[in-house]
Amino acid sequence: MPRQVYLQTFGCQMNERDSEEILGMLAARGYGIVRREEDADIILLNTCSVRAHAEDRAFGKMGAVQRLKQERPHLVLGVLGCMAKAQREEIFRRLPQVDLVAGPAEIYDLPDLLAKIAEKRQREGLGAPARLMAVDRKVRPLAQKPAGEWRRGRATAFVTIMEGCDKKCAYCIVPMTRGQEVSRPLGEILEEVRRLARAGYKQVTLLGQNVNSYGKRFPDGSGYLGPKRRERLLARAADGSLDDGIGLCDFPVLLRRIDAETGVPWVKFTTSHPFDAHERLFLAMAECRSVCEYLHLPVQSGSDRLLRAMRRGYTTEAYLAKVARLRELVPGVSLSTDIIVGFPGETDEEFEATRALMARVRYDSAFIFKYSPRPGTEAAGWVDDVPRAVKEARHRALLALQEQISREKLEQWVGREAEVLIEERNRRGQLAGHTRGHLNVVCDGPEAAIGEMALVRVRRVTATTLVGTLA
Ligand code: SAM
Ligand code: SF4
Repeated sequence: MPRQVYLQTFGCQMNERDSEEILGMLAARGYGIVRREEDADIILLNTCSVRAHAEDRAFGKMGAVQRLKQERPHLVLGVLGCMAKAQREEIFRRLPQVDLVAGPAEIYDLPDLLAKIAEKRQREGLGAPARLMAVDRKVRPLAQKPAGEWRRGRATAFVTIMEGCDKKCAYCIVPMTRGQEVSRPLGEILEEVRRLARAGYKQVTLLGQNVNSYGKRFPDGSGYLGPKRRERLLARAADGSLDDGIGLCDFPVLLRRIDAETGVPWVKFTTSHPFDAHERLFLAMAECRSVCEYLHLPVQSGSDRLLRAMRRGYTTEAYLAKVARLRELVPGVSLSTDIIVGFPGETDEEFEATRALMARVRYDSAFIFKYSPRPGTEAAGWVDDVPRAVKEARHRALLALQEQISREKLEQWVGREAEVLIEERNRRGQLAGHTRGHLNVVCDGPEAAIGEMALVRVRRVTATTLVGTLA
């Protein structure tokens, strides 16, 4: 029976955490985990569908991998994750050697699916690929998470706090691939964070497509289930907390409980949808020592017309008011964002409005994406009318603006000391880590510093990084 697994991850941090969960489950069942595909009997790609580019890369990679089957017919090839769900038929059509296609809600089924493939091979010989497809679950059955623990880093750890997404952003495929939103029970999250803190992890990053709607729906059907019920509960709760002792709880409460009860030194989280980011979140950030002064708050566009078309649920004015309040309550907070250029119908003026918003907010960093239509989304029905060259020029212009702003903000650190969590040794052999504001830092130093907090005196900066020496 094939036992050595190689897994490559595409896409976001949620996928990285899913991959850790998969490896944990398989390792607990006796599979070996290998770092090179040449050493593997099972090659799995955990894929992303958010942009066409991510899918193209995964198709390219699996295309190359399936050629290995000519020399090693016993290889098992699997495509997992969002692209498996979105492109299920296309994968078997374009990649005839693939044995398994399994969606994001099916990751807990993987040990059984691999066992089925092994049985089929024993029965039928190596012959044709198994072509097993598992993509029909609507939500991941969180209560059935199998045993097994695997973590990539030793200083920082991801903790998934919810699955799926209930928003309907016009451009986004995630609600289709990851399904309805479900939050993990509070007690389970607290226990996981406590365990990580005891094991020496210095930081956890809480993950969800929209962490600010945490608590809306739990696997048992409880939760605050919508803004109206949440407002009524809040009005009843004398201390402004949604924790009513029976498990009703929202994201600020979760942050406060992690801060008070787990002992983990630093807490970060992503992603915050601006519509659901409220004063209570900013107060929790201000008042909890462990919660870092960093917020990723994707704006997507500086044009109100486009924000409406994207169905984001806020205006630029409302967004800017939230940023101003956050900066009042959490002085020195770092801000990052996501921006899409070339959304259908984006005019020069609308693009300029985005550029002006970026210049006004002065983010510490920004992820800037060229719009790509995603099959099945609302916007896929609209004409993708911004020419490729225009998308590229707008993308370059925003990257250049952000680089200038980032550099100016980083330069303010030169000569100062930064508190840094040292996470790893980078490819150049330097120690690398992040500040509480999630700024990149590199410095020289001993192996023993990895996994520790350190003071770094900043000597100079690059476009994206503080460069210093251990103080
Ligand atoms: N849930 C998070 C949010 O709402 O911000 C992140 C979702 S998505 C995985 C990350 C980013 O990809 C989005 O914020 C958006 O900027 C970008 N994105 C999503 N769909 C896209 C598309 N069709 N074309 C280009 N960028 C896209
Ligand atoms: Fe996609 Fe919008 Fe949900 Fe983010 S909030 S995952 S952009 S639908």
